[in-house]
Amino acid sequence: MAIARFWRENESRYNMYGKKCGICQKVYFPARDMCPKCRRESMGKMEKIQLTGKGKVISYSTVHDGLPAFQMQVPYTIAIIELEEGARITGQIVDCKPDSIDLGSKVESVFRKLGEEGKSGVIHYGYKFKLIK
Ligand SMILES: [Zn+2]
Repeated sequence: MAIARFWRENESRYNMYGKKCGICQKVYFPARDMCPKCRRESMGKMEKIQLTGKGKVISYSTVHDGLPAFQMQVPYTIAIIELEEGARITGQIVDCKPDSIDLGSKVESVFRKLGEEGKSGVIHYGYKFKLIK
């Protein structure tokens, strides 16, 4: 992967911005440079937008048997979240009991440690979600 692309994706993940197609208004996250629907027409018309990080749960599943790297966190819940802007993303729901999550639950993004890379000790950060009232 080219270094420029790596940093661009990182910036997108850290700051949670997406791109909005200037033609059909659809919001993409992670950001895309071209709308897959409008294709060539959308080139140069994709606007960078800051996402609120707020949305609702449209699907979720709770994992009771984690992979070794995740074992400390079992059980944990992975949900598909539809953001206010319309983009759908997958994320972990934190800071609550799995049975308090429901379809339609409102969530907002929080910045958390995602994991640590073995011996190198590189720590990855990114977004997760927590329930809001
Ligand atoms: Zn479009």
